[in-house]
Amino acid sequence: MANEPVRQREQTAGRDLSYPAPPEPLPVPVYDNHTHLEISDGEHPLSLADQLDRAVSVGVQGVIQVGGDRETSRWSAEAAATEPRMLAAVAIHPNEAPEYEQAGTLDDTLAEISELAGRPRVVAVGETGLDFFRTGPEGLAAQYRSFEAHIEIAKQNGLALQIHDRNAHAEVIATLLRVGAPERTVFHCFSGDAEMAAICAEHGWYLSFAGNVTFKNAGMLRAALAAAPRELLLVETDAPFLTPAPFRGRPNAPYLLPHTLRAMANHLETDVAMLATQISTTTERVYGRWDAEPVVTAPAAPTAGTRLGGLQ
Ligand SMILES: [Zn+2]
Repeated sequence: MANEPVRQREQTAGRDLSYPAPPEPLPVPVYDNHTHLEISDGEHPLSLADQLDRAVSVGVQGVIQVGGDRETSRWSAEAAATEPRMLAAVAIHPNEAPEYEQAGTLDDTLAEISELAGRPRVVAVGETGLDFFRTGPEGLAAQYRSFEAHIEIAKQNGLALQIHDRNAHAEVIATLLRVGAPERTVFHCFSGDAEMAAICAEHGWYLSFAGNVTFKNAGMLRAALAAAPRELLLVETDAPFLTPAPFRGRPNAPYLLPHTLRAMANHLETDVAMLATQISTTTERVYGRWDAEPVVTAPAAPTAGTRLGGLQ
């Protein structure tokens, strides 16, 4: 395959770096609507083909590959162009926006994101949003500017928006209401409470749950899950991060998504097949079908500048 991981996860200390065994396959296939396959992890990293083969073997039939900066957004668009099991999302991550601003390259980079957003098989703008956890007050003006520009790019291209919201619930909501949210707006790795789930419901915004909904101390997240309308639920891995219980800390991958889906069904006291069916339907409503735009048969040439070593 033309595109192999170009980043390496840096946090390795104290972690078990082996991939867990594949779970029992799901009775009905679903999609992982947010993953980072450009980041390799583990003692024996998986190739892109391995990742997708393993996913399909347990009923995760497709993924949305998400970029967070110029290089990984380009990588995502190029990989999705040649891979039928992958669609792409492109954006500058809110913690990257201040770096580009400081380097004087935010506008150029946003223009590149806008160009990538128009490519085939790019179905979402993300992840974008606000992060008050990792970015201090000095970076907030750039975060807001970047978030608003991404909302505009999503609307111009008729794409879904994938939001990264960390410790910024009220401000993310206020921004969406002030500038107008795209028709399909997804809170990736939803981290709010039941009250925030109700606000999302009121506006028809989607809630995508990741592996952290399985964590022992995540009662608030599970309350939000129960409070959300079923037709707004999505599921994701955010791999290689947020590995679901009982494998917390080990490398995450789309093939581990069944653990999260089963935990959700269990908490909602619903049948796994029924929840999987509903989430699959919702995923296609938000992003379209994975075969809506054909893949190109000749692999795209690797782009110079994607062989960067460090992770942000
Ligand atoms: Zn992510």
